[in-house]
Amino acid sequence: MSKSILPTINHAGGSSDDGHAARHTPSAAAQAPLNTEKLDEVKKLFTAHLENKGLRKTAERYAILEEIYTRGGHFDVEELYAGMKERGLQVSRATVYNTLDLLVEQGLVSKHQFGRNLAQYEKSYGYRQHDHVICTECHKVVEFCDPRIHGIQTMVGDLLNFHILHHSLNLYGICGDCRAKAASGEAHSK
Ligand SMILES: [Zn+2]
Ligand SMILES: [Zn+2]
Repeated sequence: MSKSILPTINHAGGSSDDGHAARHTPSAAAQAPLNTEKLDEVKKLFTAHLENKGLRKTAERYAILEEIYTRGGHFDVEELYAGMKERGLQVSRATVYNTLDLLVEQGLVSKHQFGRNLAQYEKSYGYRQHDHVICTECHKVVEFCDPRIHGIQTMVGDLLNFHILHHSLNLYGICGDCRAKAASGEAHSK
């Protein structure tokens, strides 16, 4: 059964929206709400992976999986760990680290660098494919969707005879807020 969640499309700040955006206009990717059906699917996949690898199906590992699929956006290991502790969930940092590794390996979670040493993670199963724009000043990360990127992926795969599994595309720049802040700073120092 494929019940797709239609994300509401809102445009990333800055671009003027005159109401007739072209079909190809990249849109900000919206975070879909938690869907218990999806969580069950993810748990089943994770169970299969643990069994495959002969690893123990511990409550901690499932609690981490659930925590990840309940939260929105991007997070680092410490944020995930702190979030679980706050909710009174008992897990060790080591378990958080190795469970994340397992989930990334299986493709249920994606791992990003975003230009810093600190790895950022996000759930990926059943969520809309998206790419990222990162501000190099305030490190804000904005997601966007553009179907043309998928087209490029397919074309390059066909052309070079690759079965493309996934891609990563990060655009770096300075966001509108930071540019405005810099401009007002310059005005003040004159
Ligand atoms: Zn910024
Ligand atoms: Zn993302």
